[in-house]
Amino acid sequence: MSTFESGRHDARYAEAKEQEIDMTPALEQMNAWFDEFNGLVFADELPKVRIVFTNTRTQLGQFFYGSRGMGIKISLFYDCTEEQFRNSLLHEMCHLYCYCRGWIREGHGRRWREIAAFASRKTGLEIKRVTDISGWKPAPGNEDRLAAVKAKKKKRMNAPALVVDLEYDTYHFLVRLSKTCLFNSADRHGNLTTGAKSCRIVISDVPRFLSYQYSRSIRRGYKYSTEEYEQTVKPLLDKGVQVRSVLAVRKGEYDRLGIR
Ligand SMILES: [Zn+2]
Repeated sequence: MSTFESGRHDARYAEAKEQEIDMTPALEQMNAWFDEFNGLVFADELPKVRIVFTNTRTQLGQFFYGSRGMGIKISLFYDCTEEQFRNSLLHEMCHLYCYCRGWIREGHGRRWREIAAFASRKTGLEIKRVTDISGWKPAPGNEDRLAAVKAKKKKRMNAPALVVDLEYDTYHFLVRLSKTCLFNSADRHGNLTTGAKSCRIVISDVPRFLSYQYSRSIRRGYKYSTEEYEQTVKPLLDKGVQVRSVLAVRKGEYDRLGIR
């Protein structure tokens, strides 16, 4: 039974084996549900695809395609009910449907929402674009991992955020850097503005920015359309303290401000 792809999933598989949890019945159940939904919602038009179990915390499911074929990943991270598992599977099957229709970059666009609404009516499930998983219980064995993530978040929420705001033609790109990463980026690149129309750095304690993950690179962050930025992000950012230049503020000053 080789249903696990990456190293992490292999680890989970090893663990499952150790605890002598046989995943086969769960996989058989998933495949049975796939067939049920395929008939009920998609007139048996969907091709049979591989279903793979993962242990992903942030995604309940994922439709994937590529040179290795296509399939659906279902996460076993949370202690889900049957209905929640069925919901995740059907959500991904709606992506599969769009892909098969040639709407490759549909995402959760209009056509995906239409088929999801149809699927909901047909099955009595409620297929949403995003499922709020806050407060969901982890599956046995995953408690420590969830606790570690929560502790990390708490630490993040307690230190002011250093937000780099890069402006481009049609969007803004925001990154929360740690003090060290900010200095490194500034040293390495001379400045942070490469390719951007403008760049500003703000020290903020607005929860929106405190919830940002720290990034080690100015290429990984949060993208907002200019419109969204102007309406919702800029007013929040303007509440913070603008840093004129990274190095203009002495390192000790960052420490005094409690910036990590
Ligand atoms: Zn989706």
